[in-house]
Amino acid sequence: MSDLVKEIEKRRTFAIISHPDAGKTTLTEKFLLYGGAINLAGSVKGKATARHAVSDWMEIEKERGISVTSSVLQFHYDGYCINILDTPGHQDFSEDTYRTLMAADSAVMVIDASKGVEAQTRKLFKVCVMRHIPIFTFINKMDRDANDTFELLDDIEKELGIATCPINWPIGSGKGFKGVYDRNTKRVMTFADTLKGTKEGTEKEIAIDDPALVDEIGEDQRQTLLDEIELLDGASAEFDMELVSKGELSPVFFGSALTNFGVETFLQHFLQMTSSPLPRMSDQGVIDPFSPDFSAFVFKIQANMNKAHRDRIAFMRICSGEFDAGMEVFHVQGNKAMKLSQPQQLMAQERKIVDKAYAGDIIGVFDPGIFSIGDTIVSGKNRFAFEGIPTFAPEHFARVRQVDTMKRKQFMKGISQIAQEGAIQIFQEYNTGMEEIIVGVVGVLQFDVLKYRLNNEYNVEIRMENLPYEHIRWIENEDIDLDKISGTSDMKKIKDLKGRPLLLFVNSWSVGMTLDRNEGLILSEFGRS
Ligand code: GDP
Repeated sequence: MSDLVKEIEKRRTFAIISHPDAGKTTLTEKFLLYGGAINLAGSVKGKATARHAVSDWMEIEKERGISVTSSVLQFHYDGYCINILDTPGHQDFSEDTYRTLMAADSAVMVIDASKGVEAQTRKLFKVCVMRHIPIFTFINKMDRDANDTFELLDDIEKELGIATCPINWPIGSGKGFKGVYDRNTKRVMTFADTLKGTKEGTEKEIAIDDPALVDEIGEDQRQTLLDEIELLDGASAEFDMELVSKGELSPVFFGSALTNFGVETFLQHFLQMTSSPLPRMSDQGVIDPFSPDFSAFVFKIQANMNKAHRDRIAFMRICSGEFDAGMEVFHVQGNKAMKLSQPQQLMAQERKIVDKAYAGDIIGVFDPGIFSIGDTIVSGKNRFAFEGIPTFAPEHFARVRQVDTMKRKQFMKGISQIAQEGAIQIFQEYNTGMEEIIVGVVGVLQFDVLKYRLNNEYNVEIRMENLPYEHIRWIENEDIDLDKISGTSDMKKIKDLKGRPLLLFVNSWSVGMTLDRNEGLILSEFGRS
């Protein structure tokens, strides 16, 4: 096997998705612990301090102690080279979060056992489903009182429309949490709170039919376990690797990230069940990751990481071949040969300059303002473009204007550049044109980021008026006469800067009403960039 093939085969690139507080950071931390990337768990996010080391990129992050951008971590474990894409949740949730999923080959969904599927999980999940990538579920916090296990699985199946297949099964929860039963090996792994999760846990393993099991978990819990296994074997979906690969069946694991129970088992199974970097679609067919020619696409643009310079970093996912610092590449959309300068990668905690990277890896390169989201970079003679990244529906809207009317030019320049980076989407009134700009964002924090950046980078003060709309739809029909669309009273007609018409709604049911009232109208939740 060539070195290139070996390098690519050992790569696993995945995103972790969860609702805030479900335990994503804690789980990531434990992964890094197994990978030997950190000695003591607890340092990925020492809430305020340690986390800044990773993404101390914008003033606003420091002020609020949160991470505005999603970051990538690379570490090694058991012969694998693992790239974890973090997807920020909650307030700092943005379109970047969705785009990050475009760069992943699979997703890990962390669910709080006492809460089940929560809003944020649902949204991110939709994107995974759209991409048909494998989704692995880690049901966390079993050391706390959990919902009924069957109900948790039911919840995932109903809410997300995906079948589940438990790989292991919990024995009790909270104070009564005794461990998990591995359905494959038919062995029980007993739970012991380790040194507050700072070391790898030492679990005891015991066969399900070993009489000594009673001493470990007690007769009542043993009986409950046997009953549940019987029920489960009769009721749950059979494990089917092909369905897992297509994202139709999610393998489910139970554990406790905080006490480091079930984490390594999960990681091992996950690595075996996922594949090395997947082929990607381009306008010239499927691109094989093992092809020696380098190719990559830009999925995120991060402005102002270095305050001293007004620079941007373009993050790209390598889709095939090998990247060599200093190599000549071709930027397809810019139709230009170039070198990628200052390529960097995040290794566990630090950012460092990379000399070599392979399909599956994520690199950030210095961007003098030439890249756009979705752009393709290739090294071979074959010049192709990867499938574009969809524009995700913003859910918050505001009307924005500059305070000083003399600064119209700077205002438009700033807001357009920020939109080009993909942090916000900008629209105009359908009838009145450029006078007022309507900004749409996926997460409300982006409004603050916009205000801050316009002020700091473009010296423009703005006033913002929140609008009540929460749903946006692109109109898929070509040549539609917007005047003729009869919508609901809460509907607003707008257009993007290319003049394409869109509709805004306050209520989701109005979308359906509008479709009913206008025969042949086709509306879409994802836009084309
Ligand atoms: P994130 O917002 O999803 O990244 O969640 P964090 O990893 O920051 O965890 C949120 C809170 O839940 C923190 O206080 C963690 O210590 C706690 N936590 C995480 N995993 C577990 C677990 O397995 N058991 C318990 N009891 N608490 C946990």
